[in-house]
Amino acid sequence: MQIGISMEHCVNHPDHAAVEHCEVCGRALCGLCLWYGEDGRRLCEIHAQELRAAGEEVLPPETYAEAIEPRLLKQPAAGNAASVPYQGNSQDVTAFLAAVISLTTLFSCMGGVYCLPIVAAALGLAAFANASKAVDPQRTRTLAGVSLGIGGLMLLFILAYVGFFVGVMAFSFALATSSAPPPRPLVP
Ligand SMILES: [Zn+2]
Ligand SMILES: [Zn+2]
Repeated sequence: MQIGISMEHCVNHPDHAAVEHCEVCGRALCGLCLWYGEDGRRLCEIHAQELRAAGEEVLPPETYAEAIEPRLLKQPAAGNAASVPYQGNSQDVTAFLAAVISLTTLFSCMGGVYCLPIVAAALGLAAFANASKAVDPQRTRTLAGVSLGIGGLMLLFILAYVGFFVGVMAFSFALATSSAPPPRPLVP
C-alpha cells in the first residue's frame, strides 16, 4: 500500500489510476491489469503468465475486477481512502468540537455556563454549512446536527426560562397595578 502525492497511471490504461505494481518488473498496474500469484504476489500479465507456464496457480484480474472497477471509475485518485478508518480535516474537527461542547453543555447546565450552547450552536451551524467540504460530509452533518440540536434546545430552554420569568414579572406587575386601589389624590 503506497500513498502517493502524484497520481500514477496504469501502463496499459493511461486513464486508469495505478493501484499496484508488478513485483517482478515494477510496472504500474490498474485493477484490470493486476494479477495475483498463489502466494499473493502482485504481478503484471506477462509475469503472471510466466509463473503460470512454470506451473504456479495465478489469479487473473477478471476474478475480482468487478469489485475494483466501480471504485476506479468513481474516484480514481482516492484508491487508498477506503482503508483508512478515520480521516478528518478542519471541518470535521469543527463539527466534532461543536458536538463535544454541546454535550458538555448538556451535562454541565447546572454550572451556569450559559454561553456555551450559543457557541455550540454557532459552531454546529458553521460546520453544517461547510459539511460538503469535509472528508466525510455525512458524518460531519450528523455531528453538526447533534450540536445544533442540543445547543438549540439549550437556548430554547434558557429563552423559555427567561421568557417565563419576564412573563411572571409582567403578569404580577399587571396584577399589582390592576388590583391596587386607585391612587388617591395627595391633596383631598
Ligand atoms: Zn511484471
Ligand atoms: Zn490497466
